[in-house]
Order: sequence, then C-alpha cells, then structure tokens
Amino acid sequence: MLSIHNSLSRQKEEFRPQEPGKVRMYVCGPTVYGPGHIGHARTYIAFDVIRRYLEFSGYAVTFVVNITDIHDDMIAQANKEGITIFQLAEKNIPLFFGDLDALGIRRADFSPRVTETIPEIIELVQLLVQKGFAYETEDGVYFSIDRFKEYGTLSRLVREKQVGGTRVQTDKYDKTNPMDFALWKKAKPEEPSWDSPWGAGRPGWHIECSAMSRKILGNQLDIHGGAADLMFPHHENEIAQSECALGIHPFVRYWMHTGFLNVDGEKMSKSLGNFITLPQLLKNTDARSFRFFIVLSHYRSPVDFTENSLENAKESLQRFDSLIESLQEVQQKGPSHAEMDGLLQKTRMAIKTALDDDFNFPKCWAELFEFSRKINSFIHAEQKMTETDAQKVLAFLKEINSVFGVFEFEVKKTDLETEVNELIAERGRLRAQKKFAQADAIRARLKEKGIELMDSPTGVKWKKIH
Ligand code: AMP
Ligand code: ZN
Repeated sequence: MLSIHNSLSRQKEEFRPQEPGKVRMYVCGPTVYGPGHIGHARTYIAFDVIRRYLEFSGYAVTFVVNITDIHDDMIAQANKEGITIFQLAEKNIPLFFGDLDALGIRRADFSPRVTETIPEIIELVQLLVQKGFAYETEDGVYFSIDRFKEYGTLSRLVREKQVGGTRVQTDKYDKTNPMDFALWKKAKPEEPSWDSPWGAGRPGWHIECSAMSRKILGNQLDIHGGAADLMFPHHENEIAQSECALGIHPFVRYWMHTGFLNVDGEKMSKSLGNFITLPQLLKNTDARSFRFFIVLSHYRSPVDFTENSLENAKESLQRFDSLIESLQEVQQKGPSHAEMDGLLQKTRMAIKTALDDDFNFPKCWAELFEFSRKINSFIHAEQKMTETDAQKVLAFLKEINSVFGVFEFEVKKTDLETEVNELIAERGRLRAQKKFAQADAIRARLKEKGIELMDSPTGVKWKKIH
C-alpha cells in the first residue's frame, strides 16, 4: 500500500486517487525569464522519480508541468533585453527542456503556457466575481480572503495575527483585506495585455495554476506538487480560487512539497554570487552524478549543494558503475544460486516497502548500497557469481533504474572505438564494390595507428598491436 505525506494534514495518508489506477498530477512549472537553475532541477528530479515510481507501481499517470511565460520577472527581463516576453520565452523554453533532458528528467505529458490559457483564466475569474468571492478595484480584480473560511489551512496561517480589519489602504488602491490577492491586473502602459470583462490586463500569478490544471486534468487533482516555498501564498491561493470558483473540496487530494535547495548552506541568490544555472551545472558536472546527488535525499528534505556532497555522490555512483561493469564481464558458467534468488527477492521487497512509505529515497538507497556490497563479495571474495546470476542482478538493477534513472548499462564507446568501427564499415563497403586497393589502404592506415584487423566468419575483429 502506497502512502503519501499530505502537506495539508501534515500526515502520511494511504494513497487513494479519485479514479482507481489513474493519477492526475500537476507540478508548478518554471518562470522562463532566464535559464533554469539547480533549485528547479532539485524539484523536477524529485517529481520525476515520484512519477516514475507511480508508473512502476501500475498507475496511469497524467503529468502536467506548466510554463509561466507572463510574470513581472518576464516583463522586467524582456525590457532589459529589448525583446518581447514572447521572444524571451521562445529563447528560454527550449533551453530549459534541453537541460532537463540532459538530467534524465522525462518530459511532462502536458506543458501548458499561461499566455495560451487566457480564456480559461478569465472564465475562472468571472466565476469568482459572480459568486461574490472576488471584487473589482481601480487596478484589478482581487480575491477576498475573508469570504473563504478555510483560507490558510495548508500553510497553518494564523489568521488573527495576519489579517487586518476591514478596508485598509495597503498600497495605492483599496483592498478589503491587505492579504487579498490579484486575480487580474489591469494593464499598465507598455505591458503585454489581453482583453477582458475588466478591460485590458493580464492574469495575476496564482490564478494560472488553477486554470491550467483544470483545463487539462479537470476540477480535482490527485497530486499537486511544488517546492516548499510555494505553500504560501501560491498554493494557499490556488486552493481558495479553485474551491470557491468550482465548488469542489478538496481541490487537491494530496499536496506534496519538495525541500528547498541551498548552496553552501545559503539561499541561492544572484547577489550572493552562489546562483548556479543549469547550463553552468551541466558544463562543469556530470549530469548523472548531480541526479544521483538529488535522489539520495528524501524529497521533503532541504538539500545543501556543496562541492563535497556532489563529489561523494559521484564516488558512490562510480561504485555502482563498476559493479555493473563487473556483472557484465562475468562469464562463469553454472547454475543459479538459490541464495541469489533469496537476496533479490528480499531486496526487491525492501525497496518496495521504502518507496511505498512516502517515496523514502534514502531508505531505498541504503538497501541498494547493502545489496551492492553483497553482490560485490559474491563476485570477488567468494567468486560464486555465475553468468545466469549476473544477468538476474543486471535485470534487477535495470528495474530499479526505470525509477531512478541514474545507472548506465551501455558501455560508452571511446573516440578510438568509434573511429575504428567507422573505418571498418567503410572498408566493408569498398570491398563489396570490389575496390580492393582502397580497402587495403584502410587496413594499412589502421596498422600504422597500431590497430590490426582480423577477418573472421562472424565479421571483422580488431585489436591493438602497440
Ligand atoms: P519558479 O521558476 O521560481 O517559479 O519555480 C519553479 C519550481 O521550482 C517551483 O516548484 C519552485 O518551488 C521550484 N524551486 C525554485 N527554486 C527552488 C529551490 N532553490 N529549491 C527547490 N525548488 C525550487
Ligand atoms: Zn502553481
């Protein structure tokens, strides 16, 4: 039985999606005003593994991650670069996807963009106005949090302390409550805007997720995720909007929040100079090691990114790499050992227990480290590993990898191997055309490089001669 820690109840709950076997899952996406950063990677790697484990467990998952392509930060950056927000998005979206691909993060089934969801956003704001949960002011349309008793439940907001009296002047314009938030912002000169019943304007930030999740997944979500920073006000506001507009409760069955990533113990920020973008990360670090570093932590734990912790992850991953290599080299014939079947079954069960318990990644890896030690001793110390058993272990590691996506099973070809193989293929083509002199020239060229070719009934083989 799978249990998930629900941020709403602060407890682990048995996972029961609204429709058995199906999971509707939404995770707040990036604001694409610049390249992605390693904080994004922390959150999206964690949800990638969670999504993969749900699929591994037999669920049909529809996974949505939106793209925020209209936002104050987008407007400021586009102005700085002298381009439109659309050009800025066109530049950053492919970059972002490419970097996530490099980190082995599977793409979402749907990646809706805010600028392509404006009619659905307006419809939701209209519903809120009609039902009396929202009001229009001189500069926009606001959600009235006093109209929603449950406001603050997710983030345990102590309302008495936070909420002022009635009609307070907080900024230039009156709001009923200072914490009321904008659903629609009336256009300012030079800003991108869309027509609406309240004149030209653009959506507030929070309404986009209520509208996009509804458009693709329907009124109720099984899982809604994001990092812990979004719990308040973003997710609180999403609940208020969706539950009031749609008359649904709960809007989200399981709220999941990832722990924040810091760098050397501090919040990542451009001014501190510790801001690491994904292109920077991928230039300096092996993507697999970074992914491994992330999946070693519990998805809910904060992560501290340091040179040292990354190096440790890299070394641990190398130990798995050499284990896989050793397994692939086992040639000893002989039967399977009952002991091996027992170990595989026990480890498989332990991993399922760990992941079914709110996706406990560290517990799962503790089991796998222990397993790898036993397998290594089977291969090296006891010399008991047979090819049959090695293949069983490899199949098991491939199963694990369908969830974590960190191992590599194909031996990477070196440049030399690629070059020799290409020349052998070329020589084959020349021989087929009876151009023997040219074919022999290739053989001679390779010999000069210290490579000898041997024609055999199963194809051309080669070896290094010096
Ligand atoms: P943003 O681009 O800031 O709107 O964030 C997109 C997603 O990445 C959200 O789910 C955020 O909560 C998450 N995120 C942003 N910064 C970090 C960080 N430093 N650590 C973990 N997750 C983050
Ligand atoms: Zn969101």
